[in-house]
Formats: sequence, C-alpha cells, structure tokens
Amino acid sequence: MAIKTYDEYFNRIKKMRRNLYIAGDKVGRDDERLQGQLRIFRETYDRANDPDWENLCTAASHLTGEKISRFTHIHQSVDDLLKKQQMTRLLCHRVGGCIMRCMGIDVMNALSVVTHEMDQLLGTDTNKNFLKYLRYWQDNDISANCAQTDTKGDRLKRPHEQVDPDLYLRIVESRPDGIVVRGAKIDNTTAPVGDEIVAVPVRFMTDKDSDYAVAFAIPADWEGVKMLVRPAYLHKTKYLHSPVEGIGDAESFTIFDDVFVPRERVFLDGKGDPRQTPFAGFLALLFAHYHRHSYTGCKPAISEILASAAALVADYNGIERTTAVRDKLAHMITTAELVFAAGQMSAYRAEKSSSGTWVPDEILTNAGRKLAGEEIYNEFKIVADLAGGLCATMPFEEEFFSEETGKLANKYLMRNPKISAENQQRCFRGIENLIVSDLAGVMQVAGLHGGGSPQMETITMMGRYDLESLKSIAKYLFGIEKELPKYERPPVTPRAMLERFRELYGKT
Ligand SMILES: Cc1cc2nc3c(=O)[nH]c(=O)nc-3n(C[C@H](O)[C@H](O)[C@H](O)COP(=O)(O)OP(=O)(O)OC[C@H]3O[C@@H](n4cnc5c(N)ncnc54)[C@H](O)[C@@H]3O)c2cc1C
Repeated sequence: MAIKTYDEYFNRIKKMRRNLYIAGDKVGRDDERLQGQLRIFRETYDRANDPDWENLCTAASHLTGEKISRFTHIHQSVDDLLKKQQMTRLLCHRVGGCIMRCMGIDVMNALSVVTHEMDQLLGTDTNKNFLKYLRYWQDNDISANCAQTDTKGDRLKRPHEQVDPDLYLRIVESRPDGIVVRGAKIDNTTAPVGDEIVAVPVRFMTDKDSDYAVAFAIPADWEGVKMLVRPAYLHKTKYLHSPVEGIGDAESFTIFDDVFVPRERVFLDGKGDPRQTPFAGFLALLFAHYHRHSYTGCKPAISEILASAAALVADYNGIERTTAVRDKLAHMITTAELVFAAGQMSAYRAEKSSSGTWVPDEILTNAGRKLAGEEIYNEFKIVADLAGGLCATMPFEEEFFSEETGKLANKYLMRNPKISAENQQRCFRGIENLIVSDLAGVMQVAGLHGGGSPQMETITMMGRYDLESLKSIAKYLFGIEKELPKYERPPVTPRAMLERFRELYGKT
C-alpha cells in the first residue's frame, strides 16, 4: 500500500546514517530531542490512515490511480488545491501550530511544472526523471524538506559577486553521471527527520550565476550532507497531560560538503547547460508560490488557535463581554477568515499548467500570505494582553501538586468560581506554551518569514499586478481619459513568466 503508517516511516528513518549534530553530539533520527518533531509528523501519517480523514488526507495518484497521502500528491484540479488548504488548516488545529509537512509537497508541485516547461522549451528530458522520482515518493509516502534558503552572505550582492563563492549553494562540477554541489541551506524545518531533502534556488539568477542554478533531491543522510540541528519544544508536562504534550520542531542548518548527486536526481543544472539558468528564478518563485498557498491554510489555523486561547482566557478572566475584548477577537477572526478566503479564491482562480498541475492565482495567494505575516506579532500581542502576565510567570506544575504549596497555589489561582483551579491552570499553561515557550518563539519568526517575508510577497505581488489598469479608474474619474475600460483582473499565474521564456527561446 502506498500510504504508510507512522511506524513504517519511523522504522526506515531510524536506519539512516548518523549525520545530525545537536549541541555537540552526533546522533541518529531516534535521538530523544527529535521526538517533538516526530510527534507532529505522526499526525500526518495517522490521519491519512484514519477513515474519518480519508477524503481530506488522501488522494488518487495521477500516475498510478492508487490511493496516496495528499502530502505526496500533485494538484490535478481546483478541488485538490482547496483540499490541501483545508487539510493543512485542520491538521494544524490538531497539533496546536504548524503541521510542517507541506514544504515537501509544495516543492514537488513546483518541480512538476518547471521541469515540464523546461523540457518543452529546451528539449531536455528532466520531467521524465522527475516523474520517476515522484513515483518513488508516492509509493513510499515520503516526507521531505524543501531546502531553498541559502546563507546568502551580503544581501545586496548576487551569488557570483560574494566574497566567498560558496555562500549560495552551487554546482562545482557537472558531468554526465551527475553533479557535485557545495554550500549550505539554512532554516530547514523537519529536515532532520525527513526521508529526503529537495534543494531549489532561492532567487533569480543572471548568466553569471549559472553555477547556482541548481535543483536536486537526495536522501537526507546522503554522503557529504551534515545537518546542524536546532530542536525547540513546548514546555514539559508532569501532571497536566494534553494532546499537544511533547510537541516540538527541528530545524537544520544543512551543509553540502561536495555532495555528488546522481543525474536522475538532478532537476536543474545551469552549469552543465547554461540555457537552464533562467529556470532557477521560475522554480524559486513557484516553490514560494505553492508554499505561500499552503500558508493560507496553516496561518488561519494559527490565528484561530491564538484567537481560541484569547477567547478562553478572556472568559476565565471574566472580561469576555467587554467591547475591547470583542474588538480584539474580531480582529483575529477577520485575519483568519481573510487569509483563508484569499487562499480559497486563489484556488478557484487557478490555472492548469502544461504539465497538468494546477497553479493558484499569484496576487491573491501573496496578498493572503502578506496579511498573515504582517499580523502575526499583533496576534501574539492580543493573547498576551488578554491573558495578563501570569502566562509568563506561572510557577511550575509541581508547586500546584505539592502537599506544602498546592492548596494555596490553587486557591490564589482562582478567578471565575465556575472554573476549576485545574482548568484555570490548564488555560494559563496552554497559553504559556503558545506564546512563551521555546517553540512559540520559533513559530513567531516562522509566521513572519516562513515562505518569504511580507516584503517578498510585496515584491512578487507588485511585479505581477497590472497597475496601469488600476490607474485607468482614476484617469477616468479625474477626466484625464474619456473611456473607462471594464475593469476585470484576470487570474495571474506564472503564465506571464512562461510567455517571456517562450520569447527568450524563440518559441511560441
Ligand atoms: C521557523 C522557520 C522555518 C523555515 N523553514 C524553511 C524551510 O524549511 N526551508 C527553507 O528553504 N527556508 C525556510 N525558512 C526560511 C525563510 O524562508 C526565510 O527566513 C525568509 O525567506 C527570509 O530570508 P532570510 O531569513 O535569509 O532573511 P533575509 O533575506 O536576510 O531578510 C532579512 C531582511 O533583509 C531584507 N532584505 C533581504 N534582501 C534584501 C535586498 N536585496 N534588498 C533590501 N532588503 C533586503 C528583507 O526584506 C528582510 O527585511 C524558514 C524560516 C523560519 C524562521
């Protein structure tokens, strides 16, 4: 069966070569400090095997017709995009934050489009290799990290202009049987527990940057790959057990120390074939695009989780009905609904690419992700505001359960007499985890930068948006133009970029 159980997945990654480094130790995938991240991945495998979730968490493979995990599926319709978004949202609710398995399938969707377009324009046969690799993914229910973010050195310099040429991942050798890559990718969420790493470029590349136009996939324990791992967790629980107990994440600063990648796993090779270089930007953009669309599922969930905590603590504190509280809750709900709606609408306006993969609308996806990124710290602020300071200063659980201090601690924790001291404590501990824990700090920055900072969404959006049509409204209203063309924004997908490529390669 193509859908694997969590145990099947864990048993295979447990056997991987030890190439993880955590705080001075060289460890395997069964290290205790990775348990938090594994707990999140478990949810994705368990739900795909749960008949109640089948409709959302599984799909029919377009390659084999077999039932596969939606986390290995290439979007074949608007409905697929909508289901991916909804699945992401609902799974995030279940783990109290990011579900973290989206980036793998986001990059696979991007590769399905870009390799196909590239083959059509350049006569390469990369898509054939990609489809073989995809089959392996679907048959084995693969989990993967997308490694896009380079260390990037001086932000205002292009890859080839950097003092050290390795500050962006690059191809040091291209030969018939494969490529050798050198460099590092950072902020690689889940990479320490993933089966695979799929590396793609982070930006557009000029002719001088063709060595940096590189995309490939390798097993996460491949020779030459070293992961410097940074786990983060919720606070540990001793007495007050909950469904999110033990949850955490694992980030990797991944070093590619002259890594050989076999040709069948290379999806972009600007060094071997400089004509492929412009596709680096296309791939960078398209992965970010699919990932931002996933954010229109996860980010509303995170807003909802935070709003639910804010509403609950306001209730427990007795202030729920005040206007100030309702205004703040309404603000959070508005963000969640609008971001989700932007993702939904971008799915309804999606277009089918030549590969058969559906691509959502870029303006709406970026607008939704931008709003989410801009609101994230405000949402944490609202929860902290309504909870008061105790969420950051709570004594440890032991003091509430000890013979000597328990009775007094529980007495003075009380607010609303209808709510037990234990539930008061659960509420404050839950909020402590959501906004004060180690993991909460990571999630705040993830909410801002993950999938690209709001500034990047602004750049993408404004690069695509038809400002001339927009200005025509003012020109008409101000009497500058006599006619007002009927204003209707067509769907914006990477079609425009493809048209530019077609001109570049002299094909229509
Ligand atoms: C928790 C977390 C998980 C993540 N997971 C992944 C992952 O799995 N895979 C992955 O590939 N990435 C991942 N990312 C990385 C994320 O995509 C990046 O953090 C994001 O794209 C911003 O890039 P950066 O961190 O290099 O910041 P920078 O690009 O350095 O941005 C810092 C500031 O500099 C500005 N800036 C940058 N360049 C310029 C310029 N040329 N001109 C003017 N201003 C500029 C930016 O607008 C921003 O304000 C993750 C990030 C976080 C926080």
